[in-house]
Amino acid sequence: MPNRQSIIPTLSNKDILRFWTKVDRSDPKKCWVWKDWKWKNRKGEETYGGFWLRGKDWPAHRIAYFLATGFNSDSLFICHRCDNPPCVNPNHLFPDTPKGNMEDMIRKGRAIIPVIPIEKRQRGEANNKAKLTAPQVMELLQDRDNGMSSVEASRKYGLCPSGIRYIYRGKNWKHLFYPKPS
Ligand SMILES: [Zn+2]
Repeated sequence: MPNRQSIIPTLSNKDILRFWTKVDRSDPKKCWVWKDWKWKNRKGEETYGGFWLRGKDWPAHRIAYFLATGFNSDSLFICHRCDNPPCVNPNHLFPDTPKGNMEDMIRKGRAIIPVIPIEKRQRGEANNKAKLTAPQVMELLQDRDNGMSSVEASRKYGLCPSGIRYIYRGKNWKHLFYPKPS
C-alpha cells in the first residue's frame, strides 16, 4: 500500500487514455473494477488498483476521482461508498471529510467519525482529529490479529477502511506500540 497520501501529478492525455484502458466501464451505475495490478492485504486478497505514473504506483481510485472532479488533496482519504476497493467509479467515491463522513455514517448506520491525521506533532488521543480512544485502537489491532479484515473493521468501528489501514500502519499511534521508558 502507498504509505502516505500525495498530490497526484499532472496526467497527459496519453496517461489518461492509458488509465481508462485498465477499467471496465460497461455499466455506468455498477462498480468499475480495476483490471490491472492491485495491492494485496495481509490475507493476500486484492484491494486497491495501482496505476504506474511518474515512477511509482498510485491508488487508481484516487486518480479516477481526481480525473472526474479535479479534487486533489494530500490530507484526505478517498473512500468507497460501495466498500469495493478495486472499484474506480467516481460515483462510488467520496473524500473523507468530517461532513461527508457524517452523511455516510447516518446513511450506513455507523457510529464514529474518521481519524484524519493532519497535525503530525500531536499523537493519538491528544490529536483532536482522533475519534478512537487508545483502548479502542488496541481492540482494533486485536481484531486484526484475529483475522478481521479492514472492511469488517471499518463497519465495526465506523471508520473508512483507509482510516483503519492508517491505524494498522501505526502512524498516529506509535506510542502505543513503542512506549518510551519513563
Ligand atoms: Zn463501486
